[in-house]
Amino acid sequence: MNYKIALIPGDGIGPEVVAETVKVLDKIGEKYGHKFEYTKVLAGGCAIDETGGCLPQETIDICKASGAVLLGAVGGWQWDTLPGDQRPERALLGLRKELGLFANLRPALLFDELADACPLKPEIVEGGLDLVVVRELTGGIYFGEKGFKDTDLGPAAYDIEQYAEEEVRRIAIVAFDMAMKRNKKVTSVDKANVLESSRLWRRIVAEVSVDYPEVTLDNLYIDNATMQMVRNPKQFDVIVTSNIFGDILSDEASMITGSIGMLPSASLAKGNFGMYEPVHGSAPDIAGQNKANPMATILSAAMMLRYTFGLSAEADDIETAVKKVLADGYRTPDLYTEGTKAVGTKEAGDLVTAVIK
Ligand code: NAD
Repeated sequence: MNYKIALIPGDGIGPEVVAETVKVLDKIGEKYGHKFEYTKVLAGGCAIDETGGCLPQETIDICKASGAVLLGAVGGWQWDTLPGDQRPERALLGLRKELGLFANLRPALLFDELADACPLKPEIVEGGLDLVVVRELTGGIYFGEKGFKDTDLGPAAYDIEQYAEEEVRRIAIVAFDMAMKRNKKVTSVDKANVLESSRLWRRIVAEVSVDYPEVTLDNLYIDNATMQMVRNPKQFDVIVTSNIFGDILSDEASMITGSIGMLPSASLAKGNFGMYEPVHGSAPDIAGQNKANPMATILSAAMMLRYTFGLSAEADDIETAVKKVLADGYRTPDLYTEGTKAVGTKEAGDLVTAVIK
């Protein structure tokens, strides 16, 4: 079968990690008899240089005509002096909006082989860690009304947190569907003891849960959730939360897995459409030096196969191959410790590809 993928290599290490991921996907295609058709498009700094804007209309059109989007990273020092609304990173907001990406999935998976990189005590994460943060991506305070006004205390600024029932319902459904494929536990995180929008959030999540009798639902306040994340992260399976709480909680969750070079993510729209990208940025400090860890992007491609194309066995195959390469002791510079085998970006991609047989 043919699968259409829009490729956005972007800037910095983006093109390097995407190139390795394409190698891995092609090997999967060969093994399982699929054809992945890639269309390379511009976004970010390279798009500014070539077209004058960070997100050309052609890129949006090609993404919309594809089954999924695989993105490297955007941004870099060359464009840091541009005004905020013209910077490469604006392309990400534009893509989210144009493609209707309302759910952001960030798995935090601690590989046994990398347990040393986890900043928590070994006993806290013994036996590994495997959770997913499902963050609402297009609503809440980041997109609510904002402005300035005069108050008794002088000039003030405000941002409004607002959620429509439907926005909460659709993200809750993503979380419960995900829990059904995992360990059947959802933790909804809010601040319902203070915020009206959180009380609505909690009520709608509870309503959705009725359709998933096999899934256990817990509610936690955000302050408690951030504490639990470092006290006992193994209690979590799927966490669902608002845009701002998810922004913070997913960074905390990724930190406990130790390396930014290992973390994939997915942003999903209605239906199966999604954009897949590593959590890290364009790492200009190591770009073009064969030093970037390509695993986060390779694991993002595995998520793409699983969530957009429904190819679970193929996704498992990629994840197993990544684990095998780590278990064999190969490490890119970000993970290197004495006694392990140092490899560059290309070698890491080749090793994963070679394991898939
Ligand atoms: P960054 O994630 O690019 O880099 C942070 C640190 O982690 C750097 O030391 C970098 O070398 C290292 N690192 C990141 N990815 C790595 C990998 N795969 N392998 C090995 N080491 C890796 O974050 P930053 O330095 O804050 O941002 C750099 C640029 O990227 C900025 O222009 C920023 O706006 C942009 N950015 C883009 C995205 C995105 O495209 N989604 C996300 C975050 C930042």
